[in-house]
Amino acid sequence: MTDIKSMTLEELTAWLKDQGEPAFRAKQIFHWLYRGVSSFDEMTDLSKALREKLDSLAFLTPPQVARKQVSRLDGTIKYLWELSDGNCVESVLMRYQHGNTVCISCQVGCRMGCAFCASTLAGKVRDLTPAEMIDQVLFTQLDSGAPISNIVLMGIGEPLDNFETVMRFLTLVNHPEGLNIGMRHISLSTCGLTEQIDKLAQYGLQLTLSVSLHAPDDETRSRIMPVNRSVGVEKLMDTCRRYFQTTGRRISYEYAMIDGVNDSDRQADLLAGLLKGMPGHVNLIPLNDVEESPLKPSRRVAAFQKRLERHGVTVTVRRRLGSDIDASCGQLRRKAMRETEPRRERTGGDSRETGRKEDEQP
Ligand code: SAH
Repeated sequence: MTDIKSMTLEELTAWLKDQGEPAFRAKQIFHWLYRGVSSFDEMTDLSKALREKLDSLAFLTPPQVARKQVSRLDGTIKYLWELSDGNCVESVLMRYQHGNTVCISCQVGCRMGCAFCASTLAGKVRDLTPAEMIDQVLFTQLDSGAPISNIVLMGIGEPLDNFETVMRFLTLVNHPEGLNIGMRHISLSTCGLTEQIDKLAQYGLQLTLSVSLHAPDDETRSRIMPVNRSVGVEKLMDTCRRYFQTTGRRISYEYAMIDGVNDSDRQADLLAGLLKGMPGHVNLIPLNDVEESPLKPSRRVAAFQKRLERHGVTVTVRRRLGSDIDASCGQLRRKAMRETEPRRERTGGDSRETGRKEDEQP
């Protein structure tokens, strides 16, 4: 069986040719896929025979809305999608002046083990497919009615740990016959997998790379990000420098402010030192409180920002959207998992008991 929506238009054309179908059918089918059909039967301008043939050769994996939370404060919408095998992932729609942005997931869970992150608590279950990534963008747009102009790969999972899928997703989402979202409107966030950053650089894409730095020294970074134990800050920064030299794209460094862990003046000075002579910008993130974690939000965000600025570093502080709904990615899935214990991740079966409801906030 073929995962038809994970194919590019060119691959679809070749595949249909193998089935004895003319090339123009490919575009027709491609358009239906990006209209969000859930079955081949909905492709009403194809003959019944062709629809049946497609149904016997290929499959679709449209997600279902398992939960939906709408912020009363700023219109942010958080979706918990139930995938076709019963696993769940999250997307968040954020409305900015420069356009609607959707934050999407790339894996069910995550195996990177960052101490402050809700997505990694139960490890990684599986990678998403390109179609499952595309559908988060498409179905967010269809359900909310908000045209999506920007995408951030900052949901559940580590994009560079699902490299081939993410690259394919980028090709698909960029396609003029599909969602047609330009690379400059896409950000990809990584915990810092250096080999894959080097590999990504070779593609020379115009997307924005965000690196989750979160600490300027090995002792602290290894404590909160296990990925640092094998690579280290120095090698990571060398890789970032190479990435900039190869692509000409400035990197954005994410820094979640954690009370008493990474928010000292000394660490601000070290961070400024790391970025010296390297074009880039620091995005300070007020830590989202994860119930299971002893790490707490820092109260020194403004002081830390000022200190960095005094060193000449470009700094922004991330605005908190949707603070009245489960804030950061991974939290809604965790909540749903807790409520459905002991089943947790399922590989199939009836999932309706998870309560497919709209959690609109009062
Ligand atoms: N795996 C990728 C992308 C997913 S997380 C990465 O590590 O970059 C997107 C961003 O949110 C990362 O910078 C991540 O470190 C950060 N993050 C995770 N949990 C957080 C929390 N509780 N509070 C604030 N930021 C968090």
